[in-house]
Amino acid sequence: MGNVLDINIIPSPILIIGDDNHAIEANNAFVSLFETNVKTIDQLNKHLQFPIDINDLTPHHQNSFINDKAGIDAFVTINSSQSNGQTVLTITQEKTDLQDFLKDKNCINFLSNIPLGIIIKDISTDKTIFVSDYLISKIGYSYDEIASNPWKLFTYNEDIAMQEDIMRDKLQNGLNAVYFDKRIVSKNGRIFWFSEYIRTFEHSKKKYQIIALRDISSEKEIETELDRAKHLVEDAERLKSAFLDNLPHEIRTPLHAITGFTSLLIDPDLSNEERVEYVKFIQDSSNDILNLMDNIIEIAKLETNQIKPKREKCYINSIIDKSYNDIISKQEIMEKPQLTIDVKKDNNDPLFTVVSDPERIHQIMSHLLNNALKFTETGSIEFGYRLKEKNRIEFYVSDTGIGIAPEEHEIIFKKFGKSGNINTNKNRGSGLGLTLSKKLVELLNGNISFESTVGEGSTFKFVIPVEKEQKITITRPSVNGETNWSSKTILVAEDTDSNYFFIEAFLERTHANLIWAQDGNEAVQLFKENNIDLVLMDIMMPEKDGYDATREIREINTSVPVIAQTALALPDDEEKCYNAGCNYVLVKPINSEDLIATIKRFIY
Ligand code: ADP
Repeated sequence: MGNVLDINIIPSPILIIGDDNHAIEANNAFVSLFETNVKTIDQLNKHLQFPIDINDLTPHHQNSFINDKAGIDAFVTINSSQSNGQTVLTITQEKTDLQDFLKDKNCINFLSNIPLGIIIKDISTDKTIFVSDYLISKIGYSYDEIASNPWKLFTYNEDIAMQEDIMRDKLQNGLNAVYFDKRIVSKNGRIFWFSEYIRTFEHSKKKYQIIALRDISSEKEIETELDRAKHLVEDAERLKSAFLDNLPHEIRTPLHAITGFTSLLIDPDLSNEERVEYVKFIQDSSNDILNLMDNIIEIAKLETNQIKPKREKCYINSIIDKSYNDIISKQEIMEKPQLTIDVKKDNNDPLFTVVSDPERIHQIMSHLLNNALKFTETGSIEFGYRLKEKNRIEFYVSDTGIGIAPEEHEIIFKKFGKSGNINTNKNRGSGLGLTLSKKLVELLNGNISFESTVGEGSTFKFVIPVEKEQKITITRPSVNGETNWSSKTILVAEDTDSNYFFIEAFLERTHANLIWAQDGNEAVQLFKENNIDLVLMDIMMPEKDGYDATREIREINTSVPVIAQTALALPDDEEKCYNAGCNYVLVKPINSEDLIATIKRFIY
């Protein structure tokens, strides 16, 4: 029986295939669908996103995108039915919602097999209608979590503003597609870099948005590594330039001294004193070169952000005491008998702490104090700190030295900037100390300044913000007035004679009975043998140190007050004292007032 129906009157494209897979007939609608002649299933498949299986032409229907002659991806259903060895393929342009298509197993297989995170949104309803399994497993959020939350929730905080700008631009300029790189934070907190592509498209007169996300984390890692390597090379280059630009001049003076005095040393007629003096010149000049190099390297590191400030407990008074100990133990001080050093603390409590970087504060203080000492012959150097409003501390170093001429104020913070009105011997520094100090103050978010008058002296100040760690207010009993401790016995463990005599002199007016132990073993022994009301414990002692002696005393007696006295001013030394069982830590040098006030807190 022949075909009684004229297939050309059917508006849907129809292709009739014989059992040899070749077209027997195609209707007008089919012919006009494609530009080229489509005569076989193979040829038809080239236009389909999901091809028809030529071995399975049993009656069924299948969804696909079809690429027609205008290159438009139309969504279609292809019905196949068979009769008399012929297969009739009818293509129906789908009005189906894209959402239905996304549920199609072909589509799911296809989208799941590509290594991209895919999200599809219906713009009219602002609903997410598809999230690929790949994305779900990558970032660990469920389908519902991804579909029901705004993109900002998954986006790394610092990238939100950038994406907002791009999306605004897309909207304002009516762009179809945009792409950019951004970070997404997975459910377990891991940060992924994705290259994101957002495209708007239309289907069945509805607008959709497809978001494709490609994981580029490892590419970014390589990029960061390369960037770091590039910066390292640049830093090294900068460092090298700093050396090359400045070294020849700066190094000449100490090098001349070294070569000059070395040649003088060869003279066999030199006296011993002369020889010692020349060796000292050579040592000093070698140290100058070493300091110069250390300073250049540290400045380069600060300039290239390789040094990060610490945020830790700072015992401000310990830093000041340590700076004091450093300065008074300098040879130069001995050579300047008419120079006095004074310390001013705004808070005398040894436990006064703030949060900042103790090492850096100490380093800046040391630079400023060394300068004050270098440029002051007589009079005084006063240094210390003042607590300022808004959690800030101002440190200062004031001297009665030669001062700095107004025209030189500009240059002294610059690299290798030195004032010219001073003789070379005094100004043996590299001219880097203040540059470094300024950079260190800036590292701590502070600022440094100075006032100076030639012939009268200079005051350098730096103010840094700090965090208050805790507010310890100790009400100190007044030291004035009579203190009578004649019924009290204080054990003083101290290995240095002069220190013991100081303590003895300080406590004389209190009439306390003192027992002197000259090392840790003797302290424990004397504690056992006597009825002790309080122990003053030095920490650095031979045989047995103050930590161990305190521990042993604590095994015998848990309540006797033990006050540690230590010249070490590192914060963890203080902790170690408390851990060993001390009730209080006095940082050397101790003055009479502090000593009596502290003891008064423990005995009455
Ligand atoms: P240097 O290592 O040469 O001391 P600095 O950068 O610390 O370098 O100081 C730069 C210059 O500033 C010094 O050479 C000196 O001329 C001047 N200067 C710094 N501190 C003082 C001070 N307290 N009194 C007088 N001049 C000072």
